[in-house]
Amino acid sequence: MICDGHRNDFVRADTCPNISGFAERSRRFANHRAIFPSATRASAAAIATGCWPANHGLHGNTMGLPDGEGVRVHDVGDPAFVGKLRHAFGRTLKVPTMAERLAPHGGAVIASNVSPGAAYFQDPDNFGHVVHRAGSFGPGGRVLGPDEAPVVSHDFAGDEALAEWFVSDVLLQRRPRLSVLWLANPDLGMHAGPLGSQMHLDAIACADRAFARVESAVETMRAEGEDVLFLLGSDHGQETVRERVAVAARLVAAGLKESADSTDVVVAPQGGSGLLYVAPNAQSRIPDIIAFLRAQPYIAEVFHGAEMLHIGQRPENGLAIAFAMARSAEPNPFGVPGQITICVSDEKPGKPEGFGSHGGLGDFERHPFLIANGGGFAPGTVEHGVTRLIDIAPTVMRYLGLPRDGMDGLALPQF
Ligand SMILES: [Zn+2]
Repeated sequence: MICDGHRNDFVRADTCPNISGFAERSRRFANHRAIFPSATRASAAAIATGCWPANHGLHGNTMGLPDGEGVRVHDVGDPAFVGKLRHAFGRTLKVPTMAERLAPHGGAVIASNVSPGAAYFQDPDNFGHVVHRAGSFGPGGRVLGPDEAPVVSHDFAGDEALAEWFVSDVLLQRRPRLSVLWLANPDLGMHAGPLGSQMHLDAIACADRAFARVESAVETMRAEGEDVLFLLGSDHGQETVRERVAVAARLVAAGLKESADSTDVVVAPQGGSGLLYVAPNAQSRIPDIIAFLRAQPYIAEVFHGAEMLHIGQRPENGLAIAFAMARSAEPNPFGVPGQITICVSDEKPGKPEGFGSHGGLGDFERHPFLIANGGGFAPGTVEHGVTRLIDIAPTVMRYLGLPRDGMDGLALPQF
């Protein structure tokens, strides 16, 4: 179960008593880390495959695809993006998902209330069941009707309705080998106001209530003799937006990109970071682009070529440079530490100053939480070593006694 965007430092008795109590009687991973970019869609693929974006091939929340002689940026959240990626490269993800691996072993049901892209990239080739308000699909891409999959709203009530259906229909009846519930909150509420505000606290409370339903169903399953490994966590955190910069427009002004909608040099904004694609006939500009980005006060780090492997990305299909935006640990007016500059564009205007966002390398946006309960994990213990989103899939496969070949992650230490 994923509570999208829930910061590790907000897993406390005063903000989410149910989750906090669960952490006390489970194994908590105190230094869990997001991927780069710390954004939901590429994270969903990393959790589903156990691989870095460098190896699963979904670069971020937005991504460049070949367009004639150049590159154009697409929104990965768009339900049509899976088809665009398949059309461009003849495949979706480059490695199998858990849904694919488990298809002959009891199957997977994935219920998600975040963006369509983040839901579909957990099973882009339809090996299992994916339930989402934009369209639900079964094996082979069979469309699931309203009698088979609920259509819920993208808000607090929708998260709770999806959790209720997940408990009654998936956990207590169908019982596939892998069941995934991915809530939109607290991420949704964190994007809609200042971190630490009542909106943020209400969004956490929503996720905490949904968690309590799921935990109760897991206890019912165990009482009926089922052996259940329950993993609860988030995909990233959020920080406060302090400044917004249209990096592509700055490149045009600096003479390094032809025009706002040119396809020679393009920037795919990721909130607190950006991915920069360069067309084959503009490659000679890369050194000047790097020098320009490194000189900007709103950019903290620039990764080029093989340097991108250190952050789990790979130069491929035009992707040449990744950059993380500037940031500070300073608290916002509600006392919540962590502020970021975000990369925006006309298509991706980003959240307003003062609201929550994520996507970069800030300490809090890249610090999600993770708790493991059952399945051999020592209760009441804390792991302080660094763990990653890519460690979740190998942990699931180890628990199920199935091979985890080809995954970048490592099964989590149980004690
Ligand atoms: Zn997310």
